[in-house]
Amino acid sequence: MLGLAFWPVFVIVSLLQIFIDYFFTSWKKQKARIELEKIENERLKEYSKQGIDCLCPDENCGTVTFVPIQLNLENRYDCPKCKKGVKIYIGCKTFLETTPVDENPFKDFNFVEGKDYDN
Ligand SMILES: [Zn+2]
Repeated sequence: MLGLAFWPVFVIVSLLQIFIDYFFTSWKKQKARIELEKIENERLKEYSKQGIDCLCPDENCGTVTFVPIQLNLENRYDCPKCKKGVKIYIGCKTFLETTPVDENPFKDFNFVEGKDYDN
């Protein structure tokens, strides 16, 4: 039939199928990876919108800088003015809803120890 030998054609077509499948699969994987990276970048962009205005702890500097904060990581930044490395500790303070809080509740709060300074 068609003047072609069965086995050579069978082998060539089989190999062709394997190649096509391989390229299609890797193309699909590539597409999925690009999609994943796009989502990851989007997430990082969202993260960078959450941040805190941080005051440089150096007495001679005191520059306020907006720093993106990620709660699952250790947060640090380099002060743009004095170029010193600054660590950021994030603490919280809780009050019963019924307790009136008039002034800044963090006024005497030591974030490193997680309690008010005794003065
Ligand atoms: Zn500084």
